[in-house]
Amino acid sequence: MALLHHTCSVPLASAIRSRALTISSRAAVTFPSVKKLPHADSHVLLGMSELELQQLAADLGQEKYRGKQLHHLLYKRKVKDIEDFSNLPQAFRSNLRDAGWRVGRSPVHHAVTSADGTVKLEDNRLVETVGIPVKDDKGSARLTACVSSQVGCPLRCSFCATGKGGFSRNLQRHEIIEQVLAIEELFQQRVTNVVFMGMGEPMLNLKAVLEAHQCLNKDVQIGQRMMTISTVGVPNTIKKLASHKLQSTLAVSLHAPNQKLRETIVPSAKSYPLHAIMKDCTDYFQETSRRVTFEYTLLAGVNDTVEHAIELAELLHEWGRGYHVNLIPFNPIEGSEYRRPYRKAVAAFEAALESHKITASVRQTRGLDASAACGQLRNEFQKSPLVPDNSDSSQPQPDIPLLC
Ligand code: SF4
Repeated sequence: MALLHHTCSVPLASAIRSRALTISSRAAVTFPSVKKLPHADSHVLLGMSELELQQLAADLGQEKYRGKQLHHLLYKRKVKDIEDFSNLPQAFRSNLRDAGWRVGRSPVHHAVTSADGTVKLEDNRLVETVGIPVKDDKGSARLTACVSSQVGCPLRCSFCATGKGGFSRNLQRHEIIEQVLAIEELFQQRVTNVVFMGMGEPMLNLKAVLEAHQCLNKDVQIGQRMMTISTVGVPNTIKKLASHKLQSTLAVSLHAPNQKLRETIVPSAKSYPLHAIMKDCTDYFQETSRRVTFEYTLLAGVNDTVEHAIELAELLHEWGRGYHVNLIPFNPIEGSEYRRPYRKAVAAFEAALESHKITASVRQTRGLDASAACGQLRNEFQKSPLVPDNSDSSQPQPDIPLLC
């Protein structure tokens, strides 16, 4: 969920330190684009486990160790085309191609490097990914990939550029994974953290998100604790996610301390009341021993007063202890009625939470000049309106009753 929006941001202190990584010039690179992303393609190598690749090799009459080589080529050497699997026999490569297999990497359509080092990628249709380089407290470089899970988003949160842009379809497993690999390639650095907070609501595409998560963990080797799945709340999905007992962080975007206000900011809240979300978050902790974090976008004059902060603290205390809130000052987007809060208001909100024993951090969104910041992921290269692609009945459609 573009909550990601919420998390396409970095803690303030880290962001300041990361100025060492500043790229002073703005650069735009355009790669050849494809007409359309493939749908429901079962002949994609990216996303397959080593065991599955060994089985594939065996099915094509090869020794199983060829599957191990395939795994190495895909996830270590990150080769993009079967033609370039140069250490595999030509006959095997031909067999793969003749059987319709392909790696599953899309060409990058456009890459923008912003003045603060945040990079936005897009493939042809509308998937955007943000890479955020940050130096942590110990001085080591981290690179976070903020990945999309859908093409657009059907939930239409009132402050969100992605939501305003419409919805087309869910992404497939490999289309999520390849975003991480594209960021690595662009930065020439390993991705250390992944946040499912780009375009779309991950819980509306949970199967592909979980499969991508597994591949990123086991094959690309990014620790589960280095990954965050964000949601604005979709009924029954937090329970489902809990049953997988992941060690990753679940970030729930609240944006309001009460149901009435929340419904005005997050229309889908009407079908998933705040008390039900909080109950599911409490159960999530019981099931996984992982505490949920909360995201809260601060909108000037709407939800950013000290009274709102106190109400939020009381809500969280009602449902548990030790909760952490990430505060995200709203990023201005074209055509939005919302405004960015004053720094003083943000500081007062944070202080009110802290004084009520709720830890909070203010996140500074980066990449404003690349339109890659939180709430700004809308494909400016997408010229036609996004509508669900009903021509492909194999694509699961979002739960329409969730929409207001
Ligand atoms: S509309 Fe809401 S759920 Fe969808 S991407 Fe935007 S903030 Fe996330």
